[in-house]
Amino acid sequence: VGASVAPDADLLLRFVDGRNHHQGPMHSLGFAALAALAGALAGRFAASPSPALALRAGLSWASHVALDWLGKDTHPPIGLMALWPVSHAWWKSAWTPFLDVGRALDAATLTHDMIAAAWEVTVLLPILIACSWRFREA
Ligand SMILES: [Zn+2]
Repeated sequence: VGASVAPDADLLLRFVDGRNHHQGPMHSLGFAALAALAGALAGRFAASPSPALALRAGLSWASHVALDWLGKDTHPPIGLMALWPVSHAWWKSAWTPFLDVGRALDAATLTHDMIAAAWEVTVLLPILIACSWRFREA
């Protein structure tokens, strides 16, 4: 779970230099690979070392990138640096089934964000349940 929400830690970088770093390199498959590497290193020191930790960390990070790529974006720069460090371009899906997420703390934005989260759960929960059944059968 930590690796799936960690990419949004780039929001905190604004407090370091005042610039917007959101959906930059931390929202990339390059950082997903780094998360997998960190998972692999952590897995080596675990009580029962397993490559599964690396796989989970990398896929969790990549799932955040994929879902943000599929979400509507109304905050320039539009998109995310999904292919960093190979490309510094901003990528956005032409098909955006998920709502945008506001970054203000007023009632209207919070209401909108709750609706956006509920919609994502409505779409993704059946997929997650179906996948968990498949893994149990395997
Ligand atoms: Zn994000």
